[in-house]
Amino acid sequence: MQRKQSCHIEGPDSDLYKGSKTVREQFDYSKVKSEGKTSMEEVQKKTLIDEALKARSYSYSPYSQYRVGAALMTKSGKIYRGCNIENAAYGPSNCAERTAFFKAVSEGEREFTAIAIVGGRAAAKPSDEGNIPVDHPTDEQANEEYETSVSDMAYPCGVCRQVMREFCDPDTFRVIVAKSITEYEVRTLADLLPESFGPDNLK
Ligand SMILES: [Zn+2]
Repeated sequence: MQRKQSCHIEGPDSDLYKGSKTVREQFDYSKVKSEGKTSMEEVQKKTLIDEALKARSYSYSPYSQYRVGAALMTKSGKIYRGCNIENAAYGPSNCAERTAFFKAVSEGEREFTAIAIVGGRAAAKPSDEGNIPVDHPTDEQANEEYETSVSDMAYPCGVCRQVMREFCDPDTFRVIVAKSITEYEVRTLADLLPESFGPDNLK
């Protein structure tokens, strides 16, 4: 995959990603355009998926080998990445989705619009892009040599769905579960966590 294509997003949301330098510099918008899908909505989804794939590079999963990445978008358009982080005692392990949420909330964010999630076991052989996951990648490796597709549609666990419920409107928050930037499914949080218990119940 080619990197560092220059791009300019037209329209009222053209500064949508101003909080994320990484996206502007490294996402390959030409690939999106070559597929004939140039709407802002489509670019947003693919950008988030691409960020999640890069986040997955940092996955610390020596016990399960199940690597997960997530990218969470705030209402203002900033993107927070997260990966799963395992632990020898198993219990303290944390999911990629919650890593992204906790990073964002700890930086003062409270309003979110969407999260992209990618997960699957590490490739046993080089992917189509010729990349093999590195155990502890440098930032350059994570952003430029990452696996661009995964084996599973990795839907979020119940605990992460409940954490999303704390901060997100179930009817509008979108959960994008992807295998690649071209193969993904979109659900609302309400779809994934019906009849939920949230902050309103305690008011
Ligand atoms: Zn989870």
